[in-house]
Parts: sequence; C-alpha cells; structure tokens
Amino acid sequence: MIVMKLVGAANGQPTPFDGQYLKAFDFEAEGGRGLIDMTPDVNQARMFNDMAAALYFYNRQPKIKPFREDGMRNSPLTATNWSFEHFNGECDICHKPGPNPCDDCMPGIINDNSEASNEPSTD
Ligand SMILES: [Zn+2]
Repeated sequence: MIVMKLVGAANGQPTPFDGQYLKAFDFEAEGGRGLIDMTPDVNQARMFNDMAAALYFYNRQPKIKPFREDGMRNSPLTATNWSFEHFNGECDICHKPGPNPCDDCMPGIINDNSEASNEPSTD
C-alpha cells in the first residue's frame, strides 16, 4: 500500500499539516480548489494499491474546474509537496497491524493533537 505524507507547500514553505497523512480530498469542493482532510494517524490515511494509483490521485483534475484561468491544468494536490510512502500495514517489530513501528514499540511518539489526558499507566 502507498500513503501520501505532506512535506510542505510547492514553494517550499511549511504548512500546519506537514508530516501528516492525506485522509481524503474532495476535488469538487470550493469550486474546484478542493477540500483536504489530513490525519496524523497513518492508519486513517487513504491507502492506494500502488504508486500508479497514488500518482493518478495526486494529478487528478476536478470535474467542476479541470483548468485554471490561465489555461493550465488545475490539479489541486500538486500545489503541495508529498512524500509517497510504502505502508505494509503492520509493525516490523511485533507484527501488530498498524503503523510501523507501532506506538507500543515506539513509545516516544506522542500525538500532539491529543487534548485528552492520556497518561501511561505505571503498571
Ligand atoms: Zn510493534
């Protein structure tokens, strides 16, 4: 499986979603500018069967507005830089389904977006 991870804007500027994964993209929203849904959890990421499928999605043009005012292709996702990463669906260390390595095997990774108190138990 392939997942798409955001690296930054095409002009090299960072974005608030850098390092997060593409969860969904509504190409027809916002008059063809598109509406993105990101997730920090790779398990929630949109999964593509292979690189060709991921690139097809990346280059896709909204039906509502396939071309920009200047005549260039309107492909909203190409306005941002993406890393196409393989996702094999399980932890290499414990073989539990999920991200690799999983949270248990990489306890240092904390989800910054988590507001709830999620203190690890001491036992
Ligand atoms: Zn693991």
